[in-house]
Amino acid sequence: MLRRSLLYLSQQAGLRRWMENSPLSRKLTSRFVAGRTLADGIRVLEKLFAENILGTLDHLGENVHSLEDAVRSRNSYLEALSQIEHAALPATVSIKLTQFGLDFSEQACRANVRALVERARAVNSRVEIDMEASAYTDRTLRLVMELHADFKGQVRAVIQAYLYRSEADIRMLSARGVPVRLCKGAYHESPSVAFARKPDVDTNYVKLMKLLLEEGTEPAIAGHDETIIRQAMRHIKEQNIAPDRYEFQMLYGIRRDLQRQLIARGFRLRLYVPYGDAWYPYFMRRLAERPANVLFLAKNLLRK
Ligand SMILES: Cc1cc2nc3c(=O)[nH]c(=O)nc-3n(C[C@H](O)[C@H](O)[C@H](O)COP(=O)(O)OP(=O)(O)OC[C@H]3O[C@@H](n4cnc5c(N)ncnc54)[C@H](O)[C@@H]3O)c2cc1C
Repeated sequence: MLRRSLLYLSQQAGLRRWMENSPLSRKLTSRFVAGRTLADGIRVLEKLFAENILGTLDHLGENVHSLEDAVRSRNSYLEALSQIEHAALPATVSIKLTQFGLDFSEQACRANVRALVERARAVNSRVEIDMEASAYTDRTLRLVMELHADFKGQVRAVIQAYLYRSEADIRMLSARGVPVRLCKGAYHESPSVAFARKPDVDTNYVKLMKLLLEEGTEPAIAGHDETIIRQAMRHIKEQNIAPDRYEFQMLYGIRRDLQRQLIARGFRLRLYVPYGDAWYPYFMRRLAERPANVLFLAKNLLRK
């Protein structure tokens, strides 16, 4: 109930404007968001790298309002790649196609993303293409495959375990050698396309994770579910999967205890590091995933 309400609030424009301009925003978000500027994002990446943790930088913003906005997003990511190169960080960038103009023109979106992937190749980085709501899945995978055909290894797709179609998508991507990040899925989907019950999502996640670890190219196992992460570790050991063939991924600020454990045990870990002014929908989805966070934040706000 609270989860649904938070997901609903994540889409309310008026509340979003108010929250993003609130003087309390920094205090509210610092746990999950690196800061408002690219320099904040790079600073966090550097700090993480010193702890042997890799990063993927996300300039917050989705569903832009015009193609001009989309070009601005592309330019901000081009600058992010330049700064990543300048700081000599082994970091990638994560983008959303709606931020690159997908709602307006698939062709313009493709041109924007291609420019970014070209730059990623030049600076030895990679573009991870986040997966949004299921209305975008076909178009997103189509673009990822096109880019993979032209820039092999320079893009990573994301597959959501809550969608019924995901096993077929993983088989198709793995057969073509496309790197995949597996996550549970963060949007509110209809039971006609996605498992509605959490245990079913978790069971499907484990099945897909094993498939990816065995047949995928550089899979990223993304999430914070300790039971699932332990199952992944067991499977990796049993199947004797080499440590450079996969990585774990988590969100900045979530389950820092588990992050430290993975690093201490020698696993490769990459954190998703968001920065920017448009933090509201991202932040609300993090609250929706764990409504107990609302209490945690309320306590933080009351603390001086
Ligand atoms: C690197 C990365 C990239 C992602 N990319 C995408 C994407 O492209 N598209 C998409 O739809 N989704 C994406 N997600 C989000 C994902 O789909 C899930 O919504 C999110 O990871 C929560 O699922 P979970 O694996 O943590 O498992 P859950 O079952 O939700 O949580 C398991 C445990 O993790 C901890 N936990 C989880 N979330 C939180 C939180 N917000 N605060 C505190 N503790 C928490 C709690 O201990 C919880 O019990 C991504 C997630 C990660 C880690």
